[in-house]
Amino acid sequence: MIEIKNVQTLDGEIIEKLVPARERRVIDARGLTLFPGLIDPHVHFRTPGLEHKENWISGAQAAIAGGITTVFDMPNTIPPTITRERVLEKKRMIDGQLERADIPLNYGLYLGADKNHFAEIERSKQEVVGIKVFMGSSTGELLMDDEESLHTAFSLAQKNDLLLAIHAEDEQLLAKRKELFKGATDPAVHSKLRSREVAIEATRRALALAKTYKTRLYLLHIGTKEELQLIRQAKQEGVTVFAETTPHHLFLTEEDYKKQGTKVQMNPPIRTKEDVESLWDAIHTGIIDTIGSDHAPHTLEEKSKPYGQAPSGIPGVETTLPLLLNAHHQKRISLAEIVKLMRGNILKIFLVEPNEDFVLVDLNKSKRVDEKKLKTRCGWSPYAGWELTGWPVYTIVQGRAYDLQK
Ligand SMILES: [Zn+2]
Repeated sequence: MIEIKNVQTLDGEIIEKLVPARERRVIDARGLTLFPGLIDPHVHFRTPGLEHKENWISGAQAAIAGGITTVFDMPNTIPPTITRERVLEKKRMIDGQLERADIPLNYGLYLGADKNHFAEIERSKQEVVGIKVFMGSSTGELLMDDEESLHTAFSLAQKNDLLLAIHAEDEQLLAKRKELFKGATDPAVHSKLRSREVAIEATRRALALAKTYKTRLYLLHIGTKEELQLIRQAKQEGVTVFAETTPHHLFLTEEDYKKQGTKVQMNPPIRTKEDVESLWDAIHTGIIDTIGSDHAPHTLEEKSKPYGQAPSGIPGVETTLPLLLNAHHQKRISLAEIVKLMRGNILKIFLVEPNEDFVLVDLNKSKRVDEKKLKTRCGWSPYAGWELTGWPVYTIVQGRAYDLQK
């Protein structure tokens, strides 16, 4: 049993909390606030095949450092997770690594939808949290851009009662834009090449398909004002759609290319200040349901290649909570909203049973994001040097307490 003494609840009450555990431990949590264990529904921990960027040892340590006790991992690995056998094999690899890391991190896996392996959707349904569809090409070789395959994927997801998670960028528009910006060397071009229309068009198609097939749709990393309007409308019409945004879409804008170049290059890209404001509004009005970090690490060496060769994606799993707690200090978001976006809504959308994981947070602790102390294998962050107030100090996962100040 872990005894957490003198801890403050989200409502401001001081309580003692007992957490079932094999170890017996007392934590004096005076001055700390009790959060439930948080969930990151969108990570790329890179196993198998890309483990020079991350693996489940460094990834789990990063998650725990960020107050995250459950992650859902994406299928664009090498090879991609597109069959039941590959899902099971990936689970074996992950379990082995987590055992070595000695962190009982909770996780779920996505199956990548592939037009040559549609039968795998039904075969894998007990093993996965959802199906991932890339409507536009991003990192890896998974892509589903033709109309017929999309119809099949939406229909099969519904028939098998699976959540369909969409990377919404329109491949045809994207191909034209790539041609238009061929040879461009300024990283700021990235947000123009992957223009807002590229995202809006794909989101529009995905919503229409979800309406037709009554598919439970999960829109990943939403970043534009127009998409939020489309989602609001679809929700009003009764379409079962849920929307995720990311910390980088909430805290970075196109202005950041100037200082950070390809370090802030990801898909879909960062947008304008106006989009950022719309996203915050959408959080308060329930149009945005979840925050996923889209933790997609690449090494600094890979990122320092010129634009066009540098890969898209940034790390994020260990900075989401501090960024949001800091935003809470700035009166942008309530603690209850943070818990809803990072846990409550995710449990409902992904039909996951609640657990007894907790995070103890020091709401008043100020600290700079220090790249040298990050647990992610890639060893850098677009938020390096940011002074943030509000940090997790203990993470308790499956009855194991991790003191993050050690
Ligand atoms: Zn992603």
